[in-house]
Amino acid sequence: MEVFQSHRKSSSNNVIVSILPFYRSAPPLEVRLEDFEFFAMDRLRVLKGISDGLCRGKKPEEMEKLVEDLWKANMRHPQAVEEVNKDIISHFVLRLVYCRTEELRKWFLSMETTLFRHRFRLESSEAQRALMSEFKLPYKAVSNAEFESVKDKLSQVARSMGQNLAAADAIFYKVPFEEVPDLVSGRRVFIHKGHAYVAMNQVVSLVVTQFRSYISKALILTNRKWTSTIREQEKDRLTPIVEALCTSYLGPDYSQPQEFGEISIKDIDQVAKTSFPLCMRHLFEKVKEDHHLKHGGRMQLGLFLKGVGLKLDDALAFWKAEFAPKVSAERFDKEYAYNIRHNYGREGKRTDYTPYSCQKIISVTPGIGDHHGCPYRHFSEENLRAALVRMGVSSRAVEDVMDKVHNRHYQLACTLTFEAVHGSSCDAGINHPNQYFIDSQRVLQSKNGSVA
Ligand code: SF4
Repeated sequence: MEVFQSHRKSSSNNVIVSILPFYRSAPPLEVRLEDFEFFAMDRLRVLKGISDGLCRGKKPEEMEKLVEDLWKANMRHPQAVEEVNKDIISHFVLRLVYCRTEELRKWFLSMETTLFRHRFRLESSEAQRALMSEFKLPYKAVSNAEFESVKDKLSQVARSMGQNLAAADAIFYKVPFEEVPDLVSGRRVFIHKGHAYVAMNQVVSLVVTQFRSYISKALILTNRKWTSTIREQEKDRLTPIVEALCTSYLGPDYSQPQEFGEISIKDIDQVAKTSFPLCMRHLFEKVKEDHHLKHGGRMQLGLFLKGVGLKLDDALAFWKAEFAPKVSAERFDKEYAYNIRHNYGREGKRTDYTPYSCQKIISVTPGIGDHHGCPYRHFSEENLRAALVRMGVSSRAVEDVMDKVHNRHYQLACTLTFEAVHGSSCDAGINHPNQYFIDSQRVLQSKNGSVA
């Protein structure tokens, strides 16, 4: 796969026509640098959606629907060839992004395998058979004579799953049982002399096992190439994109106040109680308590407040009043006002700075005396439990939240908190503190008929 900064030439003659590719080799395509990044981000949206679905414990049927919807929303293209190209290119870019550490490889392998499993299930049985032969699976269909000899046993297994052994399903493959662990552990196959009899409609397990093992090896090889040559060769062009992609935030930037317009100083105490996520509530309480916040906290809270609609003059008045017991007006104007105006793009390079996403906040390492960061990641268990109780989270919901925290699913922990506090589901999950605020105001508005 070559990457170009100019236009992509049509190369449809070289395109693999299969709708569900096995990603055996990088495609012989020229890829524009923008597509290299944007295609990868779209696929990442699909994989992250799958990861959220799995963490939330969605059932297989719900996952099927979720994968279909995520694929439609992010990867579809009116022209099949373009869709296949995007599919293949985005897979190979993310393979590069996620080959670099054991943890990244594990996550990518698991999400790609889940994606592949559901996409394979959505194929017609003819397409599934074609894909099986493309994979060159070393299994032979059971002969008619052998089928007749084990038919009763196969019927029993089918009945135990509430199914009939219909004539259409009467194609079975004999497979070493250790190659279909999920079917064996779910008691969904008949096992005889070390072989599982796998029905055509269960064949996905075989293909997925092969797919998983192939991608796992490919990730290790890609990592070797990345460390030995690509990283250095591409240090000015692809390497920065690759290194940024796995932590990139994929939602809106919230640098401008959205739906709920502006908030003024007089509303701020009230909305902090009802609609700030825990990270911002904590900073807000600390500035009121200590009359000071270190730089990291001022940035995290200040940009959030800008995003929820606090005007520059109100922001200056807010920080000045809160700091007043410790910082004189003159010192405030000299040492702090510049940074606040800077965040609003009125000083320095006049860049309009963007409020921080959850990913960014979660990934920081606060020092001693700092209060920024994400409480689900950075608080001790005891402090986090106490903070959740103060927010009004029930003891049962606190346990659910802590369960997500122990598994390091911090944004899901925040989502469960949102749901417990608002009594309303948040299917998209929390990805940004300003999204938490907007979703909260939306729920409160629909409950009360007015914004709190
Ligand atoms: Fe804030 Fe995001 Fe952490 Fe929630 S998950 S507390 S919104 S950083």
